[in-house]
Amino acid sequence: MQTLRGTKDILPDEIVFWQYIQNTASKLLTLANYHEIRTPIIESTSLFKRSIGNGTDIVNKEMYSFTDQGSRNITLRPEGTASIARSFINNNLYQDNTVKRLWYLGPMFRYERPQNGRQRQFHQLGIECIGSLNPMADVEVIRIATNILNHLNFFDYTIEINSIGTSNEREKYKEKLVKYLATYINDLDNHSRNKLITNPLKILDSKDIKTQEILYYGPSLHDCLEISSKKHFQEVCDYLECLKIKYTVNNKLVRGLDYYNYTAFEIKAKNLGTQDTICGGGRYDSLIKQLGGPNVPSVGWAIGIERLLLIIKDKNRVESLKPKVYIISEGKKASKKILEIIPLLEKNDISCNLDLNNNNLQKQLKKASKMGAKVCIILCDYEIQNNCITIKTLKNGLQEQVDISEINTLVNKIISKA
Ligand code: ATP
Ligand code: MG
Repeated sequence: MQTLRGTKDILPDEIVFWQYIQNTASKLLTLANYHEIRTPIIESTSLFKRSIGNGTDIVNKEMYSFTDQGSRNITLRPEGTASIARSFINNNLYQDNTVKRLWYLGPMFRYERPQNGRQRQFHQLGIECIGSLNPMADVEVIRIATNILNHLNFFDYTIEINSIGTSNEREKYKEKLVKYLATYINDLDNHSRNKLITNPLKILDSKDIKTQEILYYGPSLHDCLEISSKKHFQEVCDYLECLKIKYTVNNKLVRGLDYYNYTAFEIKAKNLGTQDTICGGGRYDSLIKQLGGPNVPSVGWAIGIERLLLIIKDKNRVESLKPKVYIISEGKKASKKILEIIPLLEKNDISCNLDLNNNNLQKQLKKASKMGAKVCIILCDYEIQNNCITIKTLKNGLQEQVDISEINTLVNKIISKA
């Protein structure tokens, strides 16, 4: 039996990197007063239709939706922001009128064609700064993203930002764009031709050279923005410069979710091939209201962990987890003694692995070395006959014996050697 297409087991050797990312991020996020939130993986399908938007690829093609035994329409979450907005409303997190800073890490589900850096179950680390219209909030979230990437020794990225204005401004632009592109309809790539009806803004994303050429001479979104949109964007850029965070303005950058307004940004890894967007985010000032909550402007991003892992694995030395002590025993009397010793080692934060195979001593010693243990505790026939326990330091092969009744002495010696 195989895992389902687009899903993967994450094995212990790799988990150490996941924990490293999570620990690094959680430490930095705590310093910025962001707090973890965990929302359910299943939600009502309508939550995503109402937030991400009916015309988007995610809602149209990519959702894992089903009806449960009670005929409810349910979807495995394709992203985190909608769930957090829902939770913010349900739990009255707006009551004290303070800015809420939240982060999450967990699995997301999208029915896409699996390839390098693209899976059907993947994971996102995301943050949301909820309750401020200040451009400083946009810059705070961007700064935190770069801070996390830099602490993971990843510096080879570019930040692209754009202002996608308000939905009114976008509607105006859409009209102009569709009118313009309609005159070139036969020259557009197939994908873009379809998008002309469903989601014309996504045509800006097209990788097709001919389409890009046509777009180059077409109307610009920036020209449709009003003063407040432009001012917000300018301030974001000013603050980024003040922080010396390098960015490029990409006026073709639009995101695949409907709820964004004003700032949209992506962080892309250099030299990562086609799936090079590590982080995507933006401002979503009307989402919470649209879902029935108060008028609370917000901004956030999500980082794809699988893509981040492709990069940071080579850049960070993360020790795989090895037990410090390997315990070798033989017979019931030895086993009983071992049961006394293990909790004492754990109490002193000494990790241990008990050999359960009952192979001969030599084989067990080999296993201990292979596992990378520092010290072996041996309690075999010889030790039982002589009422002692042997401690063997694997690095130099030196052994010493401790009286079987002197468990505290044994533990202290192990602490000094492990
Ligand atoms: P993409 O351009 O890859 O389709 P997106 O615009 O759909 O990304 P978002 O919804 O903004 O992405 O999600 C943020 C990040 O989550 C992406 O930049 C990427 O790193 C990661 N991500 C999105 N979809 C997948 C997937 N199917 N598999 C792995 N990572 C993903
Ligand atoms: Mg996508």
